[in-house]
Amino acid sequence: MTDRLNTHQRHYCMSHIRGKNTKPEILVRKGLHARGFRFRLHNKKLPGSPDIVLPKYGVAIMVNGCFWHGHKGCRYATEPKTNIEFWETKIARNRHRDEVTTAHLEALGWTVITVWECELRGKLESNARLDKLADEIRFIGESKIQQEAMRQQNRSMRRKLREEMIRRQAQLEAEIDLLFPIPTRIKKASLEE
Ligand SMILES: [Zn+2]
Repeated sequence: MTDRLNTHQRHYCMSHIRGKNTKPEILVRKGLHARGFRFRLHNKKLPGSPDIVLPKYGVAIMVNGCFWHGHKGCRYATEPKTNIEFWETKIARNRHRDEVTTAHLEALGWTVITVWECELRGKLESNARLDKLADEIRFIGESKIQQEAMRQQNRSMRRKLREEMIRRQAQLEAEIDLLFPIPTRIKKASLEE
């Protein structure tokens, strides 16, 4: 086993930014668009810049790669044979980030739906998942519309809460570094070159 990281690994070691415009993400976007939904992408004003948000419905969607986000019990989230320490740390970090980010978004009144890469494999499966997603969004949206009237009354409180969640989201990276430190030898290797 080698301690050296390839360019791809190093990139992930150094960055914590979610993969953007991935193939599964584009599938979800196209599917939602075809089903009549309009949405925003990677909204930086929300904790974790969720991949897709539908403000009208109060729904944020995360499109997760099974391997990178450690999809439990998924056959596509297979364990790599080399650099295990690196991958395990990376996946643990992503999982923790996903959980806390979801909690932050929920605190702001968003409902978070995770779509997994494996749910979009094959045209039939993919279409079924997207139909179900559309139903979920509409269902959540109906209760959100009722809540909206109440929320309008409390704009300044909502703004404060959003600022608080953004602040906590910023602390999350430091927390992840503490909980799941990147092994020193990998950190060293990643800084070479
Ligand atoms: Zn999966």
